[in-house]
Amino acid sequence: MTGRILISEVGPRDGLQSIAAIMPTEAKKAWIAAEVAAGVTEIEVGSFVPARVLPQLADTAEVVAYACSLPGLTVAALVPNLKGAVAAVEAGAHKITLPLSVSETHSLKNLRRSHAQVLEEVRAIGAYLRSLPAAQRPRFEGGLSTAFGCTLEGPVPLRQVLGLGEALMAAGADEVGLADTTGYADPTAVRERVTRLREVVGQHAFAGLHLHNTRGLGLANVLAGLEVGVTTFDSSLGGLGGCPFAPGASGNVVTEDLAFMLQSMGLETGIDLPRLLEVRTVIQAALPGEPLYGFTPEAGLPLGFKQTEGGS
Ligand code: ZN
Repeated sequence: MTGRILISEVGPRDGLQSIAAIMPTEAKKAWIAAEVAAGVTEIEVGSFVPARVLPQLADTAEVVAYACSLPGLTVAALVPNLKGAVAAVEAGAHKITLPLSVSETHSLKNLRRSHAQVLEEVRAIGAYLRSLPAAQRPRFEGGLSTAFGCTLEGPVPLRQVLGLGEALMAAGADEVGLADTTGYADPTAVRERVTRLREVVGQHAFAGLHLHNTRGLGLANVLAGLEVGVTTFDSSLGGLGGCPFAPGASGNVVTEDLAFMLQSMGLETGIDLPRLLEVRTVIQAALPGEPLYGFTPEAGLPLGFKQTEGGS
């Protein structure tokens, strides 16, 4: 395995939306700036949902605008609907992701929308984006969440994942990604679902993997993704957010551990690991008492550890 892997940091969105504490806007900016200084080139910085639903992310427009001022950073945001997409474009986001839960029960409970309703929204967003001048048009990902299993429905059939992936593309998404929202994935399932989905949507329309470490399989699942050629992985600094369904387990794959594994394997991430490890202090200062996860930060880097090309 050789080459460059993109680590897409999702902590400021996925991590912060899962915890009760509200991080001050200035701390979010400091966190994002520190990650960029450590070499991170893509960050999902917030979500354009109503503030009454997620008060933790009420400042997303301001955070997006700030993040856009950082050179070299791809600024991503989550949008639940057309209204959110318009707000994301106005704030200047480079990439937007609309989550579609493969489990319809989860979709109805979380977004209060059926699959048909979500796809209608995707069509409206696609039409809106096509009406924009190319320079203002963000990349539009359809994120297939609960793509490996669901806490409400249990197993999620592969054919449903493939059908919805196809439907997202037909409705106007530029690319689709797979998310193990609930920690159901295993390496065999990752290899199979990535391979089959790419056959359906096309090699270049596969966005990447969003994996969780709920049952300790996060990095094993990353490795399975690498083996079938995946080059983009979401993760969260300090695994921030935890997982309410598995006390003591981190939610998202831990960015520090992911960067360590990839660099140990000789893959390029562009990340300066010692600097990345220091970013944790920014979060700890802003969210005192909030548990952060990760093995590499606990153990420290091994003696003689050499960063791969691209780590400055
Ligand atoms: Zn997540």
